[in-house]
Order: sequence, then C-alpha cells, then structure tokens
Amino acid sequence: MKLSLHNTLGRRLQSFEPLHPGVVGMYCCGPTVYHYAHIGNLRTYVNEDFLRRSLEYAGYRVNHVVNITDVGHLTSDSDEGDDKMEKGAAREGRTVWEIAAHYTNAFLLDWQRLNLLQPSHWPKATDYIAQQIQLVQELESRGFVYRTSDGLYFDTEKFPAYGDFAGLRLDKLMAGVRVELGDKKNPSDFALWKFSPVDKRRAMEWDSPWGVGFPGWHAECSAMSTALIGRTLDIHCGGTDHIRVHHTNEIAQSECAHDGEPFARFWIHNEFLKTEDSDKMSKSSGEFLTLQVLIDRGFHALDYRYFCATAHYRKFLTFSWPNLEAARDAHRAFRRRLKPLLDAWNGSRQGETDSVHEFSEGQKGWQAQFEEALGQDVNIPKALGIAQSLARDGNLTEAQRGRLLLDWDAVLGLDLAQDLPDPPPAIVDADQSAHIDALVAARTQARESKDWPEADRIRKLLADLQVVVTDTPTGPVWAFKG
Ligand SMILES: [Zn+2]
Repeated sequence: MKLSLHNTLGRRLQSFEPLHPGVVGMYCCGPTVYHYAHIGNLRTYVNEDFLRRSLEYAGYRVNHVVNITDVGHLTSDSDEGDDKMEKGAAREGRTVWEIAAHYTNAFLLDWQRLNLLQPSHWPKATDYIAQQIQLVQELESRGFVYRTSDGLYFDTEKFPAYGDFAGLRLDKLMAGVRVELGDKKNPSDFALWKFSPVDKRRAMEWDSPWGVGFPGWHAECSAMSTALIGRTLDIHCGGTDHIRVHHTNEIAQSECAHDGEPFARFWIHNEFLKTEDSDKMSKSSGEFLTLQVLIDRGFHALDYRYFCATAHYRKFLTFSWPNLEAARDAHRAFRRRLKPLLDAWNGSRQGETDSVHEFSEGQKGWQAQFEEALGQDVNIPKALGIAQSLARDGNLTEAQRGRLLLDWDAVLGLDLAQDLPDPPPAIVDADQSAHIDALVAARTQARESKDWPEADRIRKLLADLQVVVTDTPTGPVWAFKG
C-alpha cells in the first residue's frame, strides 16, 4: 500500500517513506494539562490516530510519542502572561502537581474512550528537564542564545531560515501579534529558559547552569522527541495554530542544536473543529465542550469518533448538536447493518483453516479502493464511504463483506467486533481518589466472585489511569505510576 501525505514543509502531497525501512518515528504535540481537553483538541488526536492506524495498516511499525505538557508555561506564544498551571491551581484551590495529575488522568480517560491507540511513549515535560537544559546548552555553545534580565532567549536572527516554515519573512511573521519586546532583540525571539522571580518561589522551578527557573514552552518538544525518536523525525503532527510559532520555534532550536540536521521530514497539520459562529473552539473563550458533556447528553464517545471520520483532517469540521446527532444516527445505522455481516463471517470461520479465506476478485476490488483512499493523504471520509457502500454490495456474500469490514476497522477504530461497548465510568471530578477507590473495590469484588473478564476490564481501566494496584495482606493498595 502506497501512502502520500500532505507535507506542510513544501505545502504539497508527497509520497511517504520513513527514514529507516519499516519503522516510523511520529511525534505529536500533546495537551497542556491545566484543564480538560475540549472536543476540538480531541479532534486532532482522533485524526492523528487515523494516521497512525493507516501507517500500521500499510505495514509500518510506529514509534509514536505524545507529550504531556505539565510544566507551567505562560499563556501566550510570546512568553508573556500568566502561568497556565498556576492559574488552574488558583482556580481550584489545589497544587500545580495535583492539577497536572488530575487533568492528565482525565485526558488519558478521553483517549481510551475514543479508542485511540496507546502511544509508545507518554513523556511528561517535568520528567525531561535535564534534556531541555542540555538542549539550551547545545544552543548556547553554538552561539544562538543571549541572556536578558528574565531569561535565556533564542536569537532568531542567527537562523536565516527562521520564517521559511511558516512561509513568512521574519518581519512579517510576528505582524499583528502583540508582543512585549522587553529586553528581547527581535519580536520573534523566544524563551529557552525563564528565571524565577527573585522575590518569590514558583510552584514549579528547577536548578540550571543559569539559575533557578523553568524551561520555555517550545523546548520540551525538541528535547523529548530527540530523546525518544532521534534527531530526525519521520512525522511531526499538530494543529494548524502551531505552524507560525510553536513548530517554527521547534525547528529553529532543534536544527541549530544539531548543526543543521533536518528536524522533521513530514509535518502534518490538523484543521480545527469550528462552531457555527466561530472558526475555533477555544478554552480562553470560556465556554467549551468536553467529551464528558457529550456523554452526559447521551452520545457515545465512538459517536464523536465517527463524527470526526466524516471530515478530512485538513478541512474544518463544523460542530453543532444537529450535526453530531446526524453522525450518531449514521454511526448506529452502520453498526446495525454490519451486525449480520460480521456474524456471517464469524460463523463461516468456525473450524476452517485460513487458506479458504483468500480474497475473491470482488473483495480485492473493494480492498484496492479502500487502500487507495487511505493512500491519498489518509482520506478517512472517503474510506468510510467505501465501507458504507461495501456493506450494501449484494454481489458479495455477507461473510465476504463482514471479513473486509472487520479488517478495515483496524483503521476506522470503531470497535466494530463488539456491540457498542459501555463507556468507561466517568471521573466524578472533584475527588479523583474516590473514583479510583471505587474501581479498586469493584476489582476486588470481581476477583472474589471469580468474574475474571470483569476483573480484567477494571485492571485495564486502572492501568489507563496510570494507577498501580498492589495486593497486601490487609487488602489492595493503589498508587499512581512513577
Ligand atoms: Zn510541540
């Protein structure tokens, strides 16, 4: 299966091959865990999951990294404003560490509910401070860094290709963006390390060769991707809003620290989920929808996944309740149509060997269409349409259709093999630990009544929440991993 991807680098469709045969290094910018992810954020991860699944369908092994930004950064691209984590802590009367743990868990739960494949690594920025310091040292020794009263900055004038990625000249890049220049030399220069204020201790701060402080927010992605994938990534993903500043800065610091070695070969950018009156759903605008709100209103998380599958990742998708309802109805009807097909396939398999399941000519034709859709820049809406048409094709037996659809679900990720599964229980907010206590108690009960499937299901839920349970003579105790 041949795969072409639209590469932001060069702005064109390009045939994809990884640097090392068979293995794809894929880095995706993850959430800042100061609040719940909204469904617009989640759309990006669903689309990235379609990409990952398509790569695996094409036979690649994917080394997939999604970072968790748990360091308190400043709210604007220009390194000014409030610290998001501290803002979250003040809002809820908790410590920044509690805020990070709570919203990381909530994010991982959304991840699981949407049936997104677990990445190979979930690095937390706070676990990679040393690597971020090392990156700044590498840049400093090569002359790309200058110091001001409040931190260390990257001198964008020293990197002539700085504006290339966004397709803008340096002076145009920041036009229209309000920037407090402070001691900075150029508006586009960005913080690599910020000093803690002299008169107060920050909730999150670390020692460094330059003094106590915290890393600038772009540093982590460069440092963690190098540590977990290597200097050159095959694919780097994110939202279109990251092109101008965050990804431009990642490229600048990585390529300058690594003597010009290319940072990422393919850049894949996801378009926003919009609402009928705004081009972007955003947290700063106050009102935003979480997956939990959708579930509370009677939708299944996979209804939302199906909704995401109806638009190509490079196109806007317009959220409205009627649009979501239409997607839910189509999703449920699709599952109903599939049920007898999957049953027929499962029935026909009983007691047979694999050799009788070679594709017929009819099946091969459908398979080619499906792969072609994926190969053209991961065209999931088209692939979904092909699956819908196949389900109705009377020229193939039910079992033949069922077999293909089950196979294709490896990409669609709708968990078609089973009835729409019950959603995992919600985090009943406020008290995370009560929720985990309840899960642990349910696990104990399931084990006592020898209900192994249920015990196993709960074990997986706990694992996804990063909870480890240890059985002791006085009963089970649990703790967060790490
Ligand atoms: Zn990033």
